[in-house]
Amino acid sequence: MRLKKDLGQHLLLSRGVLEKIADFLEVSEKDTLVEIGGGTGNLTRVLLGRNPKKIYVLEIDPAMVKKLKEIDDPKLEVLREDATTFDLCSFGCEVKVTGNLPYNIASLVIERVVLFRSCVPLAVFTVQKEVGLKLAGKSEMGWLTVFLNTFYETEYLMSIPPRFFFPRPKVVSGVVRLRRRGKLPEIDTLRFKGFLTRLFSSKKRKLKNIFPEESLKSAGIEPSTRPHKLTQEEILRLYNVLER
Ligand code: SAH
Repeated sequence: MRLKKDLGQHLLLSRGVLEKIADFLEVSEKDTLVEIGGGTGNLTRVLLGRNPKKIYVLEIDPAMVKKLKEIDDPKLEVLREDATTFDLCSFGCEVKVTGNLPYNIASLVIERVVLFRSCVPLAVFTVQKEVGLKLAGKSEMGWLTVFLNTFYETEYLMSIPPRFFFPRPKVVSGVVRLRRRGKLPEIDTLRFKGFLTRLFSSKKRKLKNIFPEESLKSAGIEPSTRPHKLTQEEILRLYNVLER
């Protein structure tokens, strides 16, 4: 079978790593799982081995959908869908989401999880190592890191070298886990995203050149600070002041 580079088709071959991903997802018999980008079904089979209630696999490539449908298991449902536009609340229950994400859709999928957070308590994704570290707050903050961490506690769990994939990707991969926080702030997702992208649009700009000084002061923030120096709490405070 010919693998399609533009769809990020790098198959994860290591049984050990696949089992670890299933461990990280903490699969139980009560769980409904959603796997994004099933490919030839390597992870799907391991997940089925954990005996969840149901697995829905979203796969965009018809050739892969055909392959996945060869797996004969009543718990499995393969859907030809684009994960970047899919409604994760459409199953009518909470779902744990996982997948070895193609690099070009990773951010979009993570945004989707945040958007549908009411239905997603836990997610485990394989992404580019740098992206994973950034999301887990281990390098300079970006808007998506703040967006995600407002609603999910994000952990970087392990790195996966290229040799565990076929074909080998050029970069090291990393596994991240997103665990929904216990008490979620009531925030309009799209307005919050708009605010964050504005906040991070130019890292070198001082905050007073982006937002009114009075707002910064009433949020207890020094107006000449730069965006990436802010803490998660300060950002949320500023958002609330601006929304008032
Ligand atoms: N889970 C498999 C395959 C991962 S490769 C494994 O670990 O071995 C990534 C898969 O995502 C490919 O099968 C690719 O066709 C699929 N994919 C790419 N873009 C997608 C999208 N927008 N929506 C759903 N699946 C997508």
